[in-house]
Amino acid sequence: MNLVALGTIALDSVETPFGKVKDVLGGSVTYFSLASRVFSKCGVIGVVGKDFPVEHLKLLEDHGIDVAGVEFAEGKTFRWSGYYEYDMNRAHTIKTDLNVLASFKPKIPKDYRKCDFLFLANTDPEIQLDVLDEVKPKYSVCDTMNFWIQNKKEKVGEVFRECDMIIINEGEARQYCDTPNLIKAGRELLDTADRVIIKKGEHGALYFSDNCFFTTPAFPLENLKDPTGAGDSFAGGTMGYLAATKDMKDANVKKAMVYGSVIASYVVEDFSIEGLKKISKEKVRERYSMLKEIVAFEHEY
Ligand code: AMP
Repeated sequence: MNLVALGTIALDSVETPFGKVKDVLGGSVTYFSLASRVFSKCGVIGVVGKDFPVEHLKLLEDHGIDVAGVEFAEGKTFRWSGYYEYDMNRAHTIKTDLNVLASFKPKIPKDYRKCDFLFLANTDPEIQLDVLDEVKPKYSVCDTMNFWIQNKKEKVGEVFRECDMIIINEGEARQYCDTPNLIKAGRELLDTADRVIIKKGEHGALYFSDNCFFTTPAFPLENLKDPTGAGDSFAGGTMGYLAATKDMKDANVKKAMVYGSVIASYVVEDFSIEGLKKISKEKVRERYSMLKEIVAFEHEY
């Protein structure tokens, strides 16, 4: 398998100024895999409870995602509830119920081992470390969230040190590095991984490597409904492109990030995964060209 991802598969309850949904399909690896499919087939490692609607798993399969690494365990599915105010850049968590995630011991399908790219989406860092150790990918990338930095910061640090690239959002970068300045945070994280991407929601993303600093805007939208999953979908678009091209040169990572921004723009236009269901390579290429026009400027002074 070229691209494998571990993360949460969730039932989310979300309220934004534009509506409200209860127990809808969500989770970090759900968004990641549905976003990455534009460029790469993704093998998913995760766990759900016996209450998880089988149609959701079928939906992932129907979208070309390999779910051989998803386990149905005794107990309830991971649940997250949260809300957004008019500043849709900030998710407020109401409740996180780990449920079956608390005792999850992943069984890794044989053909996921030694994959080219492994993405450790936001989940328990101890599970991230176990999977990294078992899969032994050629290239590993990770994400995390405030919940895990608060509860297991040392383990999060271990994951960061073990991975080749970190993709993290701005709030978590500030929290982990204990600085309000994202440039300082990015540079500090470069001590632990070769490449760092800091996601800034509606303000795009920053990229740091030894030889490159780059920033892409988010795709500008007037009508957004629910930002849940935008960060995971940005990572999915970025990683899907990198896995398809197998080129980690800075120039290619920049292109991948722009694709990530474009794919994330479809998620926020609707609740849950509805926006992501509609994406196609053609639609993504169209917004990619529009984004290129938006950032282009003359070189002369
Ligand atoms: P984001 O891309 O950051 O908006 O991620 C949203 C998804 O993260 C939601 O669908 C949640 O189910 C999931 N999520 C929320 N809290 C956690 C957590 N502590 N660990 C893993 N996934 C989470």
